[in-house]
Amino acid sequence: MRIKEILDSKRTISCEFFPPKTADGMDVVFRAVDRLQPFNPDFVSVTYGAGGSTRGFTEEIVTKIKSEAQLEVMAHQTCVGQTQEEVHDSLARLEAAGIENVIALRGDLPQGDNVGAPAKSGFSHASDLIGHIRGNFDFGVAAACYPEGHTESADLDADMEHTKLRVSQGADFLITQLFYNNNHYFDFVERAQKSGINVPILPGVLPILTTSQVRRFTTLCGAKIPPELDKQLDKFGEDDDAVRELGVEHATRQVRELWDAGVPGVHFYVLNRSYSVSKILANLGLKGHTALAGE
Ligand SMILES: Cc1cc2nc3c(=O)[nH]c(=O)nc-3n(C[C@H](O)[C@H](O)[C@H](O)COP(=O)(O)OP(=O)(O)OC[C@H]3O[C@@H](n4cnc5c(N)ncnc54)[C@H](O)[C@@H]3O)c2cc1C
Repeated sequence: MRIKEILDSKRTISCEFFPPKTADGMDVVFRAVDRLQPFNPDFVSVTYGAGGSTRGFTEEIVTKIKSEAQLEVMAHQTCVGQTQEEVHDSLARLEAAGIENVIALRGDLPQGDNVGAPAKSGFSHASDLIGHIRGNFDFGVAAACYPEGHTESADLDADMEHTKLRVSQGADFLITQLFYNNNHYFDFVERAQKSGINVPILPGVLPILTTSQVRRFTTLCGAKIPPELDKQLDKFGEDDDAVRELGVEHATRQVRELWDAGVPGVHFYVLNRSYSVSKILANLGLKGHTALAGE
């Protein structure tokens, strides 16, 4: 089923996983999917490794989840560092495997590349990839957006213009980059609507797992950690158990406020660790099992 049709009929809960670097890591992904399955996510997505490095695993995982767990799936497809033919072939394999949804992304530029430079005669931007998908395939298509602005965007207006381009090329809905202050999401949605974007915008929520990880991720993607939360991270430091519980509390508050404000759905960045997301869903009153601490 196209995710757009699901969004037309209900508010969604979705979960994002990432492929392992080697086949040995596949169990970890499927265990996390198993532990979240009782919460009945409306769809799950699987990321695409930088430059297509773990492409085969993404295809294998979405195909297996769709057929065995019977959950609706969305494959991430990036285009940086790949030729148009390579990207086209990857999409053709997904289509042949019965996958109906993709999120079309550029991918992060390899370090040292010129910003905006197309690599390997490929697509330069997500919007080019979305146009190609619309012209050649019959997938439901999502795209990314950035409440605090993408790190390469000159300013928030330029960033919104490029978000509009992804939608005008055919994105059915958008999923945001992580953020820890809901006001960034609410402001973004207001600005998007004013600029004529009227597709659903799903907030992407990443429960904090460790202090070093959240600081690394936010530095890379340009999201800010609110000062109060940052102080608590300083206090708990490398006490990972305490930080994980802080992450659960913060994300529970975030999601409750987002849900109460009427968001079209919430997309969880699970990072293959089901414990925090299952606790948050349990806190919000969705039935299911709580994963074992550490998972
Ligand atoms: C929900 C979500 C899922 C993600 N999944 C993955 C994944 O699976 N694998 C992965 O490697 N990365 C993933 N990413 C990260 C993403 O690939 C990076 O943020 C990447 O740097 C930008 O991708 P994009 O699709 O937004 O690119 P683009 O739309 O190409 O935007 C990139 C930059 O170029 C600018 N831009 C866009 N169009 C134009 C134009 N026509 N002219 C000039 N400038 C332009 C934009 O403003 C932005 O600054 C994900 C991000 C999100 C939010």
